[in-house]
Parts: sequence; structure tokens; C-alpha cells
Amino acid sequence: MLAERMRRVRASPIMELIKTTSGGNYLSFASGLPDPALFPLEELRSVTDEVLRTDGVGALQYGAAEGYAPLRQSVAAILRRRGLQATADHVLITTGSQQALDLAARALLNPGDRVIVESPTYLAALQVLESLEAEYRVVPMDADGMRSDALTPSVLNGSRLLYTLPNFQNPSGATMTLQRRREVAGKAAAAGVPVLEDDAYHDLRYEGEALPPVAALAENAHAIYTGTFSKVIAPGVRVGYLWAQPALVERLAQLKQITDLHAGSLTQRVVQAYLQAGHLEPGLERFRTAYARRRDVMLAALETHCSPWLTWNRPAGGMFIFARIKPRAAGTPLDAADLLARAMERGLVFVPGAAFHPDGSGSDTLRLNFVSAPEERIEAGIRILSEVLHEWS
Ligand code: PMP
Repeated sequence: MLAERMRRVRASPIMELIKTTSGGNYLSFASGLPDPALFPLEELRSVTDEVLRTDGVGALQYGAAEGYAPLRQSVAAILRRRGLQATADHVLITTGSQQALDLAARALLNPGDRVIVESPTYLAALQVLESLEAEYRVVPMDADGMRSDALTPSVLNGSRLLYTLPNFQNPSGATMTLQRRREVAGKAAAAGVPVLEDDAYHDLRYEGEALPPVAALAENAHAIYTGTFSKVIAPGVRVGYLWAQPALVERLAQLKQITDLHAGSLTQRVVQAYLQAGHLEPGLERFRTAYARRRDVMLAALETHCSPWLTWNRPAGGMFIFARIKPRAAGTPLDAADLLARAMERGLVFVPGAAFHPDGSGSDTLRLNFVSAPEERIEAGIRILSEVLHEWS
């Protein structure tokens, strides 16, 4: 029954892992889920009630494809504070930022088009690109983000899009330095390659100053920027957004209309009322405080238990620590997928890193989510990891 293009659509190994382990008694460093104990339940209950009381008809009726006008204005204000030139006309409200990535890629790419991607990178974006039959031009990452020196003419020329996650990248946790941001923006602009910047974790910064978006540095404004309320309110609300030049926003709104007419009228108003009531900052503070502590607990536990076998980074924000298994002097290299199988026998899950690598490398890497597990169980999880590593190596 299925069309040709469905061959390129496959289940995410992470979603599969979450499905397999849900219900089981696992300690999970695998998912990208926020901690539900931190969801602003009372605040959402009260603003939802207010929305239904004061604007019930609007909340339950069809709306504009571009999004609820007051929310577009609020998002524009948020984006101006991040350094983007933004009016409501620059903003498209989407059903999560995943849809923003899909719309942007679908609008820009023909089958076979080349897309520059970081390695490793966000798995669900690779799934979007694969479904569009894109070809990858892979650029490595290091602790300072995308290696801008690898953006050579042969990589840039003929590419139709450059996808980057400069803040606390999923999965590597790396943050791109200001210098690199300038170089990436400059090189992409000079080569006429539009930048697709995914900033899903922007507000989950635990230290240091916020850096300007690459999209704000790309002078010809040949850029699309995406963000979300999933990580700072709750993902089930499914409200994200996209920033681009107004003419492109208009075209993307037409594409969005084909997909789902518009994002939920109720949820958009709930987010707007949540912002108006001033709930965002206190909620964010709770997320940041709890997550920063858990990051530190996991880092300390790694140092205590895993340094003979692993190296890892210290992310300035986000949800992930990315670890690499040290090479062995002799014997077959250790594979994180095998490590996972052994860890699961002892009740621990994490995500082996290979799936995040568009070039097929990374079998020696693992992604550890430090926000989902309760703080008091993190060390126990890392100890299990060290025991498995110890027995195996
Ligand atoms: N981008 C990145 C890097 C993500 O990690 C996620 C969530 N896993 C998304 C986009 C999409 O999230 P949402 O659709 O909930 O905004």
C-alpha cells in the first residue's frame, strides 16, 4: 500500500528503546524527557481555566495557519531578546519545533539535495532529512561545536541547507563558541547556503552568558531558526515556533496548512496566558536549578566511577552528557550497543551514540540524559555503568 518515500521512514531507535523499557523497572538515562515532577501543573490548570472562561470560543475554534496573533508577538519579543530582528510577521507557531524542522526542510529541499549536518546530530532531524531523500555533507563536532574549518568550498558549494544546533547540542551537549558562530554564519552566507538553526534548549543554560543565534549573525538573513516551549513548559502542550523572513513565513504557513491547518487554538492561548501571567521565568528557574544539580551529580559520579573507561564532556546546559569509550590496547573495540545490552540486564538504559552519527561512526559513544532520573538515583545508575564497563573491558 505504501508509497516509495515511506521506505525512508523508519522508527527512531530511541523511541523503540523507550517503548521496550517503559513499564519495566529501569533506571533511564535514555530518553530526552523532562522531569514530570517539574511540570508547572497548577499554573497550567489555572491559565487553562482562565482561557476557557475568557476566550472559550477562540480557544475551541479553528484559527490562522501562522498562529495565534498575541502569541506570535510574545515569541517575537522573546526572539528579540535573543538577538534576532523579529516582529510577529517573522514568527510561525508550529506544533512543536519538530514540525518547524520538517516544514523548513520540506520547503527547501528537493530529493537528492545536499544538506550539511553536524556529526553527531539530532536524530529526529536526520529522520526528516532522510524522508526527503537528502544527501549528507557531514561536518565533525568538537567541544566548541561544529568545526567551522571543515566548512570547505567542497562541502559548502552546491549544498542547499546547513543544519546546526549551537546550544547544548542534542546529543553531544556541546555549545558553539561565538567565534565559530561568526565563521559558520559568514561562510554559509558567502556560499549562499541557508542555515537551519535548532535552538530547542536555549533557556536551559546553567552557566555562562547566552550567545547570539547563528541566524542573527547570518547577514543576508538567509536563515531559519526554530525553538520550542517543550523544554521550558511541557512537551505535551506541543507548541513550538519558527523564525524566518516574513515572505518565507508566509510560504511555510501555506505548507503548514496542508499538514494540520494550524497549531492547537487552545494550547496556543494557554501558552500565551502562561507567558502573560509571568509563569515562564519562575518555572524555568525550577528546571534550571534541578537540572544543573543533576548534571553535577552525574559528572561527579562519572569522575568517581567511570574514568578508567570513559571520557565525557561538561555541558553548559541542556539535558545530555556525551561519553566515549576509551580505546582498548588490544582486542575488538568496545561497542556501546553491547554495553547497553549488558546494562539493561542490570536495569539501566542509555542511548548508544551510533544512531546520531550520519556518517556511520560513533559506535564507541553513548548519550546520557541527566535530567529524567531522580537526583538520588543518578549515582547508582553510573555505578551500574562502571560495573558493566569493568567486567567487560
Ligand atoms: N530539536 C531538538 C534538538 C530536540 O531535542 C527536540 C526534542 N527532542 C526537538 C527539536 C523537538 O521538540 P518539540 O517538537 O517538542 O519542540
